[in-house]
Amino acid sequence: MGVHVAIDAERCKGCELCVAFCTHQVLAMVRAMNSKGAHFPEMTRPDSDCTGCRQCAVICPEAAIELERTGETGDASSVLACAHDGK
Ligand code: SF4
Ligand code: SF4
Repeated sequence: MGVHVAIDAERCKGCELCVAFCTHQVLAMVRAMNSKGAHFPEMTRPDSDCTGCRQCAVICPEAAIELERTGETGDASSVLACAHDGK
């Protein structure tokens, strides 16, 4: 079992709050930009480093992050958190 951080790059505004609030330095901004010209984060460390603490999903002002629990096959089996209703 692991946790996958699903990031909707197009919703991201590049504020970097998720990177700052990640308790295990799992996230980092990438050089690529979305259609709004914003850099967005991705997981840069193995999924096992993510504790599923939900800090990144809670802090994201754009509700761009969801956590998915993954099984041994890597399939997402359930959504752990989405802190906001869609805007
Ligand atoms: S759930 Fe916690 S450990 Fe995982 S990426 Fe988000 S803030 Fe980091
Ligand atoms: S907190 Fe949300 S909007 Fe800000 S960089 Fe992270 S994913 Fe993008």
